[in-house]
Amino acid sequence: MVVLYSFELYRPSSLEDALVFLEKNAPDAKPMAGGTELLVLLRDRVIKPPRYIVDLSPLRRELSYVKVNGGYVKIGALTTIWELSRSFLHSDVRYAGFVDVFKKFGTMALRFEATIGGNIMTATQYSDYATLLLVYDARVKLLSTRGSRILSLEELLVDKRVTGAKPDELLVEVLFPEPPRSASSAFVKFDRREVLIAGVVTSAAYLDLEGDVIRDVRVSFDMVREKRVPRRARVTEGFLRGKTFTDEVLFEASERVLSGEMERVTDWWTTGEYRLDMSKVALRRGLYKCYERIKGGVI
Ligand SMILES: Cc1cc2nc3c(=O)[nH]c(=O)nc-3n(C[C@H](O)[C@H](O)[C@H](O)COP(=O)(O)OP(=O)(O)OC[C@H]3O[C@@H](n4cnc5c(N)ncnc54)[C@H](O)[C@@H]3O)c2cc1C
Repeated sequence: MVVLYSFELYRPSSLEDALVFLEKNAPDAKPMAGGTELLVLLRDRVIKPPRYIVDLSPLRRELSYVKVNGGYVKIGALTTIWELSRSFLHSDVRYAGFVDVFKKFGTMALRFEATIGGNIMTATQYSDYATLLLVYDARVKLLSTRGSRILSLEELLVDKRVTGAKPDELLVEVLFPEPPRSASSAFVKFDRREVLIAGVVTSAAYLDLEGDVIRDVRVSFDMVREKRVPRRARVTEGFLRGKTFTDEVLFEASERVLSGEMERVTDWWTTGEYRLDMSKVALRRGLYKCYERIKGGVI
């Protein structure tokens, strides 16, 4: 029998109420969105149980949305993975990577509960939407009784289960600049089974083309260096930017530049050498997918 620790569940009546409760009780109060990560961590005793869990579900109406406003795509933190799939992010080729992540994400039931905010705040190398959002240069809006502040996603993701958010802050929105029509993205996840399991290598790519010239490119991986959270491979991006999109350029980027920038770890899943080899494949595959999507206009 699995025994969860006991805790008190607080259901806020409004966003303001949630923030005041967190201000009074953090760090002994922890927010819960879909609970698909938090409850598993509590069950498995990976984290210390808080005295209170603040159930954010009463705020779903307010914090579930996907919209474009002032040149930015804005996603409410409590938007579920299922709701993302019902939005324009799944029909507009500029956001094709969202479709790729969705296809490999957990189970159908999980997609109804899991939220984008929870995925980011989970802060692990397995946070697939975080890996994708990095290539959109995403930022997050944090709210507390002291006001709001914006952090880049890279600033937020400090290390595994360590974020730049204060214990009394709520993530309320993810935002990124609306990409041009000449851009698209892709997400690649390699594993033995590929679904219902964390990837051995996950990677996201964003490409913006002017003809066949790479006007802009961003790539991210589940890990690049010592941190165990997704990170951009900026040296590789710098090498690719401004070059013509050819097999030779992609080959050099993956074989020489990426492998110079990337350090891969060996653990009980697989070796660092295998991870590095698959990272090179993921880089090329992601960029080819973006290229085809931009040229073909379909996801
Ligand atoms: C079987 C299974 C399969 C999975 N498959 C995948 C997968 O394929 N890809 C993947 O990326 N993940 C996967 N996950 C992990 C998890 O489901 C996702 O990370 C999910 O998006 C978490 O969202 P949630 O709303 O359930 O977060 P929760 O569990 O509610 O919260 C996660 C963390 O974020 C904090 N938090 C949540 N919302 C906020 C907020 N608004 N402000 C501040 N802090 C907040 C919580 O306090 C907690 O620390 C899987 C999990 C399971 C159990």
